[in-house]
Amino acid sequence: MPQQSPLDVPEGDPFGPHNLPYGVFSTAGAAGAAGDEPERRRIGVRIGAHVLDAGAAAAALGSPYAALLGQSSLNPLLAAGRTAWRDVRRALTAWVTDPGHRETVEAHLFPLDAVTLHLPYEVADYVDFYASEHHATNVGRIFRPDGEALTPNWKHLPIGYHGRSGTVVVSGTDVVRPCGQRKAPSDPAPVFGPSVKLDIEAEVGFVVGTPSEHGRPVPLADFEDHVFGLFLLNDWSARDIQAWEYVPLGPFLGKSFATSVSAWVTPLEALEAARVAPPARDFPLLPYLDDAEADRPGGFDLRITVSINGQEVAQPPFATMYWTAAQQLAHMTVNGASLRTGDVYGSGTVSGPEVGQRGSLLELTWNGRDAIELSDGKRTFLEDGDTVTLTAWAPGPQGTRVGLGEVTGRIVGSR
Ligand code: MN
Repeated sequence: MPQQSPLDVPEGDPFGPHNLPYGVFSTAGAAGAAGDEPERRRIGVRIGAHVLDAGAAAAALGSPYAALLGQSSLNPLLAAGRTAWRDVRRALTAWVTDPGHRETVEAHLFPLDAVTLHLPYEVADYVDFYASEHHATNVGRIFRPDGEALTPNWKHLPIGYHGRSGTVVVSGTDVVRPCGQRKAPSDPAPVFGPSVKLDIEAEVGFVVGTPSEHGRPVPLADFEDHVFGLFLLNDWSARDIQAWEYVPLGPFLGKSFATSVSAWVTPLEALEAARVAPPARDFPLLPYLDDAEADRPGGFDLRITVSINGQEVAQPPFATMYWTAAQQLAHMTVNGASLRTGDVYGSGTVSGPEVGQRGSLLELTWNGRDAIELSDGKRTFLEDGDTVTLTAWAPGPQGTRVGLGEVTGRIVGSR
């Protein structure tokens, strides 16, 4: 028997050669001996349980993409545009599948558990949306029990806000419990202290590759020319701080303390088989948002799982999102605001129609009224030491599954 190669990924592995997500890694501290200089960051492509040093493999194979892949960040690849994205992916696919390249490629593989993963791109602007009708309805019922659950604008435009790009952190980064003001309706005055309603929002993030011209909107049809890929995103939210501060200008310190993203970006090209139509619209949308005649469906069938301390608490279905990523891109540029390489936008909390499909503890516990049972006790909101992990998969070609890289984070006490 020939020795098993790391490139012989088991059938059914969601990180097979049909997937090939991109990240940035280093090997210091794991593979290196004590006292080593920290090793440089480089672009990695995940294949099974290994990471391919893409730049080193490209150089060894004499590829024209050696310079683009030999970087410490994905930004130059993101900026290279859609044709380059397609060509690089074709090359990588050949490298990990063609037996003629095997020996060369194997020399540049590292076991996943022997590398450190880093934030793979420099985040430019960060925007977060509010695109699940089920989530928006639940939140409306909780925060505005006497009013309409959905605001009058909700089905006319994708509601969003600008967040804090500097506190977008890679999966695995601890999250410090934020302090801030809160004031329950029954409190006579606001109090200051650690948030007592720290929550998650299970979301999907999108990263922009190709910039756009200031003053020129990006139409729906140009989505794939600008957006490189997607990933899981956890929009940590302090509900008590948020509830007191958000009127009238929206989310601020209840959100800006941390946003976690997966270390792996899945290129949109890997998700062709996961395209689905969004839910039916109640009425025709304004032309710049109207996707009824689009060439292809704008939704993505991503099956998300939310776990706390290893225990599953929800399975939010991304296919149920009312607004698509293409509509969100069209809306956030319709006023002429330009895109930059590295812009990230979040879908908004993903919640389906069922209780077990809700992507936040706010909804799962109905703002703390109904505690959920974990094996280590009841939870309404997060406690110090809790670890939250989002995982997901999507239908791939020929019955395969495309895995999304997890996003995980542990809550540590306020400082
Ligand atoms: Mn959010």
